Amino acid sequence: MIANVLVMIRKRSRTVIGAALLGCGLMTPYVALAADCPNPNALGTSRTLVVDPTEHPRIGTMQYPETLPLADHEVVLTFDDGPLPKYSNQVLAILASQCVKATFFTIGSQARFNPEGVRKLISAGHTVGTHSQNHPLTMNKMPLERVRQEVDDGIASTLAALNGDRSKLAPFFRIPGLMRAEIPEAYLASQGIQVWSADFPADDWRHVSPQRVYDLAIQRIEAKRKGILLLHDIQPRTVAALPRILNTLKERGYRIVHVVPATADRPATPTEPQQWLMHPPTETVATTRWPKIPNFVFTATRTLPAPVFADMDWRDADILDHAQHARVAVPVRTPWPQPQLTLLAPVSTLPIPAADVFRVPEALDLTLLAARSAASRRLAQRATGPAVGAPRAQAISAQQARHPKQAAHQIPAAGHGRIHGTPMRVAPPAANNASVRIAKRTPRAEASAAGKRVPD
Ligand SMILES: [Zn+2]
Repeated sequence: MIANVLVMIRKRSRTVIGAALLGCGLMTPYVALAADCPNPNALGTSRTLVVDPTEHPRIGTMQYPETLPLADHEVVLTFDDGPLPKYSNQVLAILASQCVKATFFTIGSQARFNPEGVRKLISAGHTVGTHSQNHPLTMNKMPLERVRQEVDDGIASTLAALNGDRSKLAPFFRIPGLMRAEIPEAYLASQGIQVWSADFPADDWRHVSPQRVYDLAIQRIEAKRKGILLLHDIQPRTVAALPRILNTLKERGYRIVHVVPATADRPATPTEPQQWLMHPPTETVATTRWPKIPNFVFTATRTLPAPVFADMDWRDADILDHAQHARVAVPVRTPWPQPQLTLLAPVSTLPIPAADVFRVPEALDLTLLAARSAASRRLAQRATGPAVGAPRAQAISAQQARHPKQAAHQIPAAGHGRIHGTPMRVAPPAANNASVRIAKRTPRAEASAAGKRVPD
């Protein structure tokens, strides 16, 4: 078996093997890093991915169809909103201890206050992109001029910390609050800047515990098994959670990929278009060929973590606490919105049928009348029997005559035994038959029948 594999490998050119190894992240960067890293148990950076922003202007499956062309169990670390020395420096130290490289999206105003912080990111070998000048959470509503100002000022402020050296700043941008819109996306694309969304956040900007940040990061990474992790280097809970996140990633066989922009001297890593999709379409899975759904957040997350109370952001938590201690009755019924009748589809109106639709033709009327007369006559014949039973038989006949339909289904009394101990016998039909009376329509029945010819 091994011999066969060796033969197959020998048949391939060195170039092909090299490209394959680079694609799998098994080539020199990892070996070189392992040699450089003082920590033999470090997670390390498995490879460097070079991307061309103009070829793939928007990435991150939280909002876009494409994401970085990562292999299974490959993760890219990103940190927003810095630099803020108190916490950014701790994040830098943790990353250094694990020998991993990340991408930082700095805020222009932060860079103005802490230019040294920007330089530390660069000198540590991380990639630095930008995150606007003032971190407005309304970029999705801004006109082009304001978008341009936020983007350009943020870049200028970060560049100022780098003495204007554009080669040190990556053309990567993350929209504050991920408030994407066509205007900022189009402007950034026109500037050759790549918009970075993410594949999974860890909610570290919210008021949650470091444990929660750790849990969310790991759960969401495990759900997709590869992608861009969104963190913030200005949060103490992130600093607290980061060492455990990195340790767990190493334990579970994940690898960290460092992303850098393509330049004239550094061509983009060769990739296939389908590698930029989180789940490339296959011929064997029919569902992957259905039309794409809109860009929802977490659309591809298979398992979502159960929500915890801390995630609710309720300001009236105290009230609920009281309620749960039975001081105040907890509302049993959830105030679901009431169904709105106005939302129902309007019922189409049908035309009123014409009166002649219900009119029975003269010939058919006579036929029905004759059939009913015949049935009544038969009933009367059965009812009229022996002389002693005659009064009773006539009574039955009269009753049945009033209800000819029911009479047709009644079992006749004749032939079923004795009446008052006297055997019954069948008598010949009487001339004065009740059927005659049945056949005739009384004035009342006639009026009733006439009335039925038109609907109410
Ligand atoms: Zn931010």
